[in-house]
Amino acid sequence: MIIQLDKNISEKNKKAITDKMSSLKFKPTEVLTQKGDYLIGTGKADFDIRDLGQMAGIQDIHMVSDDYQLVSRKWKVDYTTIDLGDGVKVGANDFAIMAGPCSIESEEQIVKVIDHLKANNVKIMRGGVYKPRSSPYSFRGLGIDGLKLWHQHAKAAGIKIITEVMQVSQIAEMYDYIDMYQVGARNTQNFNLLDELGKVDKPVLIKRGISGTIEELLYSAEYVFSGGNERLLLCERGIRTYEKASRNTMDLNAIPILKEKTHLPIIADPSHGIGIRHHVEPITLASIMAGADGVIFETHEIPEKAYSDGQQTLNFRESDNMIARIRKTLELRESF
Ligand code: PEP
Ligand code: MN
Repeated sequence: MIIQLDKNISEKNKKAITDKMSSLKFKPTEVLTQKGDYLIGTGKADFDIRDLGQMAGIQDIHMVSDDYQLVSRKWKVDYTTIDLGDGVKVGANDFAIMAGPCSIESEEQIVKVIDHLKANNVKIMRGGVYKPRSSPYSFRGLGIDGLKLWHQHAKAAGIKIITEVMQVSQIAEMYDYIDMYQVGARNTQNFNLLDELGKVDKPVLIKRGISGTIEELLYSAEYVFSGGNERLLLCERGIRTYEKASRNTMDLNAIPILKEKTHLPIIADPSHGIGIRHHVEPITLASIMAGADGVIFETHEIPEKAYSDGQQTLNFRESDNMIARIRKTLELRESF
């Protein structure tokens, strides 16, 4: 159950509501986000919603039977739009293209990617400065200095930055230089990290865990939301299955299922989803037809020379072509 409270509810009225919830066998938890005050009731008992609904200080009350609540569409039917400022929005009627290298490598590379994005009117650049690598001997990113350099160029070009945050201490370190935090597939259930991201006022894109279920992804989002930050996006990036012909198995099913279950924008990551450069485009276009609110993909001037994930990275010509087809596919989707 979600009870949305009046902004200036008295402590006395709040206590009366939590006492009533307890008497109905619902465990109350107070959630204060940057946007609203809520009481979340977890429990399964049957009762007459009017018993609570008439109490003083309640703006709205919804029954949500799942354990994830605030991210559920049973509470908020309308899709959420994430506003990054300067007219860049993601979700509902605003489709987002986010593109860039797997890793930020050099100033020269940053400038080339930004020029490529500008030529295609793409407003959000991806890239990792802290890289989660399976082997400790692989390139692990340029760190905060790389991010500062990237930020200088991106800001001058009017491009927004999304980058992966791997640990709690990086949240504050990165804050001034990014527009969106990315929680990687290896950290989807790092609950300390999620709790802390609940306290910041910048959007967070949460990737699905490598072997994570759709429900677990929703719970991870609930952590950040109930921690205070409602500005969330979810990302399908493929899961580990027994199939070895592709890097991961892109779960296209997850897109319409998530769109039904949550009001948050759903982003598709076909690069990690299939992991094979020449198959990235069909999976991207299929994700759009499945209902994605945006795509995030890897591109590099010379993918063969990329420090990471070159095998799934598009060169600029492939990226130009795919962006054109993304826009055609969107037109087709809108014509339905
Ligand atoms: C990435 O975006 O480069 C990345 C490491 O993604 P994931 O966490 O999905 O593996
Ligand atoms: Mn990558």
